[in-house]
Amino acid sequence: MASWIELNAQNFLHNIHEYRKFLGPHTKLGCVLKGNAYGHGFQQTLPLFHQHTDMIFVIEARDAFAVRNYEKAHGLTSRRVVVLGSLSPEELIACAVQEIEVVIIDTSFERYFGACAEAAGTPLKVHLHMDTGLSREGFLPEHFAQELEFLNAPLAAQHVDVVGFMTHFSNVEDVTEQTYAEKQLQLFEEGYQSCIQVLNLQKPPERHTAQSAASFILPSARYHLARVGIGLYGLWPSGPTRLSTRVLYPENAPRLLPTLSWRTSSQQVKVLPAGSYIGYGCTYRAAHEIRIALLPVGYFDGYPREFSNRGYVLVQGQRCPILGRVMMNHTIVDVSHAVSNNDPLVATLLGTDGHEQLTAEQLAEWSNTINYEIVTRIGPHLERRMV
Ligand SMILES: *Cc1c(COP(=O)(O)O)cnc(C)c1O
Repeated sequence: MASWIELNAQNFLHNIHEYRKFLGPHTKLGCVLKGNAYGHGFQQTLPLFHQHTDMIFVIEARDAFAVRNYEKAHGLTSRRVVVLGSLSPEELIACAVQEIEVVIIDTSFERYFGACAEAAGTPLKVHLHMDTGLSREGFLPEHFAQELEFLNAPLAAQHVDVVGFMTHFSNVEDVTEQTYAEKQLQLFEEGYQSCIQVLNLQKPPERHTAQSAASFILPSARYHLARVGIGLYGLWPSGPTRLSTRVLYPENAPRLLPTLSWRTSSQQVKVLPAGSYIGYGCTYRAAHEIRIALLPVGYFDGYPREFSNRGYVLVQGQRCPILGRVMMNHTIVDVSHAVSNNDPLVATLLGTDGHEQLTAEQLAEWSNTINYEIVTRIGPHLERRMV
């Protein structure tokens, strides 16, 4: 086995509890399982999230179908599942049949309502996504009220059930002062009023806007439902968000516990003579005799090549620098100070070992990115186990 992922179930439960505490009893906790559950593993984390959260958000229809299959296989009652991302006509129809909720982002969906109605015995449940400033998916505020009329056409009125009204924030995690988000919320509220006035709905749709950051630091964004991703995995959306929680809740700031550790066992340990060149391009040369460990992990596995001659791993609770370039399937580290023989060893690429910890934020810094990208890029082929 090259390298593997350990998932900490206790820490997942802690993070879920922390979000529930801040969201309060009237806001449902929806978990976001996109990006292979932020790299933690969709299949491996689904049982826990299915049991302990109220709703599941996915980006791809096939993940929603996987949730339904999981429920069938284990005789579980079905959870509400929402597909946030793009859908082919076939997928949309299959969602209608399997009572999976979808997000409608413009009027083009109208042409599929007939087929959905024919295939499914129940109305298609939809969430309307309003683009309040991210300029990603969704209806723009300008002509929203007029555009909504397509849902009053007889076919839609009979076979489409508007259950949700949502938007997504642009920069809550990038700032400590939320004026842009507040502007987005105002547009969102105006859009909601249009919904209520234009559509002849039996029940007002549930409003939802908050991701991990807003769930903690923007109470007015909580509404009926939160869509929490990164925070449930124990990672902070950003430094400023974490800081904001300390300011907002000086006595009881939320704590998040990372859930993922990435480890590998050495393929070889050996002593190199002084003067040896290490790795492709001979970018590192040993000034004196050193003991190296060859680790069977590389950029194919999602271990970024930017870590070359820059990052380190943990062995026996010691920092061991990466020597030379990270290769497709191999990385070489200096273990001279960590071990005193050539026995096989275990290296921690991400996680805790003894008194040392390597965080996704630290790794993100070495490769000029964010923790989200570090974890979502961990290869889906690696073994993941919940411990
Ligand atoms: C990714 C995403 C979320 C979750 O964001 P986090 O910052 O990971 O909590 C919520 N809503 C939408 C629409 C998203 O795309």
